[in-house]
Amino acid sequence: MTKIAFIGLGHMGLPMSRNLLKAGFDVIGFDLVPAAVAAFSESGGKTAGAIADAVAGADVVLTMLPSGAIVKSVYEGEGGVFAHAKAGALLIDSSTIDVATAREVSAKAVANGFDMVDAPVSGGVGGATAGTLAFMVGGTAEAFKRAEPVLAPMGKKIVHAGASGNGQAAKICNNMLLAISMIGTSEAFNLGRALGLDDQVFFDIASNASGQCWSLTSYCPVPGPVPASPANNDYKPGFATALMLKDLRLAMEAAGGAGANTPLGKLSAEIYTAMDADGHGGVDFSGVIKHLAGKL
Ligand code: NAD
Repeated sequence: MTKIAFIGLGHMGLPMSRNLLKAGFDVIGFDLVPAAVAAFSESGGKTAGAIADAVAGADVVLTMLPSGAIVKSVYEGEGGVFAHAKAGALLIDSSTIDVATAREVSAKAVANGFDMVDAPVSGGVGGATAGTLAFMVGGTAEAFKRAEPVLAPMGKKIVHAGASGNGQAAKICNNMLLAISMIGTSEAFNLGRALGLDDQVFFDIASNASGQCWSLTSYCPVPGPVPASPANNDYKPGFATALMLKDLRLAMEAAGGAGANTPLGKLSAEIYTAMDADGHGGVDFSGVIKHLAGKL
């Protein structure tokens, strides 16, 4: 049976690791927070007291961590993955981190005799719990093939985005587009309202016209037209503004490094920075409609 070490049992990692257990994998979990380790243990998982112990016998190491700096330390540190994992193990980092760090850690993994993919996700805690995440995977074709059966119990879509780092690139490009389209959709509703247009009437027209997009038809920022959207639940996340801002900052950092011109991405990052600075980081990112209207 494939042995998996799962490091980072937080909001996303805990439900993801539970789905691996349910699929019959032998999973050993580790987190710095004892309560997270205890929750995994209560779900029937084995636990370790240190990264070295978790990864020592594992065929696959999966990480779900907050930032690039933490990913680097977990892989490259003295007590970390490179120093203690089995030769030839497959390493999967599903954290959302910057492209440059993902490529750097992956190159070091290969130099240390491991296969590694970056496999960030979209779908949030709901998708992690339901096992319906979308994985965007960067790495060699061979590493992708090895990763697919491990990712399958946690996701409904697993896409090979190309070489190492391209999973992270796909994730931040998608989320930059999402931020821009949500702000655009919100502006259109706000202008429509100012001109006396009814929300539902505008929705019915735009959703069947050239303004149609996911932010409008699946995640509508006004209450009513799409009953499941956070707008109907006082803008409770969903996908919190602080998380959107994290991804936008990664996108802007990557754009700077690659010399890509992304003026609307930059403006979106500024708008979400202001919303976050006003104390609304916990509000769903579609709440930007209220922020733009000066009501949040
Ligand atoms: P989280 O903060 O809830 O979980 C991260 C976990 O990592 C925590 O339990 C923390 O204790 C643990 N950790 C930190 N440093 C560690 C270390 N050195 N060793 C072991 N464990 C350590 O975050 P999350 O919401 O689960 O997100 C995880 C990643 O997934 C992030 O990169 C995030 O951007 C990405 N993501 C999150 C969502 C979401 O909706 N929450 C959606 C898509 C992607």
